[in-house]
Amino acid sequence: MQAASLQNKSDRIMARWMRSSFMGRCIQCLALVKWIPVIFVILVVAWSYYAYVVVYCIVILEGKVLSQVLFIILYHLIGGLFMWSYYRTIFTPPGQVPAAFHLSPTALDRLTQASSKDEKGAILAEAAEGLPIRCRNYDGLVRYCEVCQVIKPDRAHHCSVCTRCVLKMDHHCPWVNNCVNFMNYKYFILFMFYAFIFCIYVSLSVLPDFIVFWAKEDQKHRGLKIHVIFLFFVGIMFALSLSFLLFYHMFLVARNRTTLEAFREPILIDGPNKRAFDIGILNNIMQVFGPDILCCFFPTHTALGDGTSFPARHGNRVSYESITPARSHSPVSETQIPMPEDPCRRSDGDFAFYPPGNCNGDLAFHPHGNSKLSDIV
Ligand SMILES: [Zn+2]
Ligand SMILES: [Zn+2]
Repeated sequence: MQAASLQNKSDRIMARWMRSSFMGRCIQCLALVKWIPVIFVILVVAWSYYAYVVVYCIVILEGKVLSQVLFIILYHLIGGLFMWSYYRTIFTPPGQVPAAFHLSPTALDRLTQASSKDEKGAILAEAAEGLPIRCRNYDGLVRYCEVCQVIKPDRAHHCSVCTRCVLKMDHHCPWVNNCVNFMNYKYFILFMFYAFIFCIYVSLSVLPDFIVFWAKEDQKHRGLKIHVIFLFFVGIMFALSLSFLLFYHMFLVARNRTTLEAFREPILIDGPNKRAFDIGILNNIMQVFGPDILCCFFPTHTALGDGTSFPARHGNRVSYESITPARSHSPVSETQIPMPEDPCRRSDGDFAFYPPGNCNGDLAFHPHGNSKLSDIV
C-alpha cells in the first residue's frame, strides 16, 4: 500500500519535472525563434560589408583611389547611423507604467469582488482620479489591464508578445524583436530612414559597374561580379520594401497617430476621434523628434513628454502643457520649453495651446493640475 503511494508520488514528480522541462525548452526555443528576423538582417548587412567594402571597393575599384576612399567613408557613415538606430530600436526597453497607475491592494480587492460592470467602472473611475488620462474604452469606462493590474495611461496598450503594458504602443515589430513604442519610436523611424538611404546609396554607387557586368563578359572579375549584381538587386529590393513602411510612418508622425490608432481610433471622454492627438504637423513631429533639429538625426532620446500623458484635442482645442522634454531624462527650465505655433500664456503662468486666433476658453486637458511652468520638471 505504502509502496504504491510512493510510486504514485514519484510518478507525479516525474511528470511535473518533464512538463516543466518541456515547457522551459519550448519557451527557450520560442525566444530564439523571435531573433531569427534580426539575425537575418545582421547577416545581410555583414554580407553587404564583405561584398561592398572588400570585393567592390578594394578589389574591383583597385587603382581608383579617390572613389575607393569616398565610397568606403560614405558606406561606413550611412551604415553606422543605420546600425546605431537599429541597435537602439532593438535594445531600448518599453517604458514602465508609473506606480501611480497601479491599483492599490484595497482597490484591487474591491475590483475582484465587484459583480457588475457599473460597480467595476465606479471603482476604476475612483482609482483614476488625479491621473492624467482622457482615453476610455468603447463602453466609456476607464481603460484597465487585467494582466498587469494597472490603469492604462493614454495611448498605452497591452502587448501579448512582451506580456506587459507598453507606453504609446505603435506595434510589436518582429524585425526588431521589440515593441515600437514611446521610448524607441524615433529610433525606429531613423532605422528605416537610414536603412532606406543605405540601400539606395549601395545600389546607385555600384550601378555603373553593375551595367558593365550585366551587359558584357568580364573575365578579370569573373568570380566577383556576382556580388556586385546581388548588391544592386538586394539594395533595390530592400529600398522598395522599406519605402512603403517609412512613408507610412512619416504620415503617421505628421498626424500624431500610432499604427494601432490608425486601425482603431482612440476614444476620448467626449467620444471617438481619429485625430485625437493631432496638434499640428510641426508640433506632432516635435513630440517624436524633439525641438532641436540637429538631434533629430541621431538615435538619442529627445521625444517630448513622459509617455503617459499627451496633449489631446477637445472639440477644436488642444492643450499643450504635456509637451515638455521627458522629466526622467532632461529636466527643463522655462526657457527650454519649445514654443508652439500660436502659444497663449495664461494669466496664472500656465502654458496653453489653442488654434491660431483662439486664446480663450479652458484647457482641454490639464495633467498637472494648477502647476506653473516652473513646476514642470
Ligand atoms: Zn498589461
Ligand atoms: Zn511587444
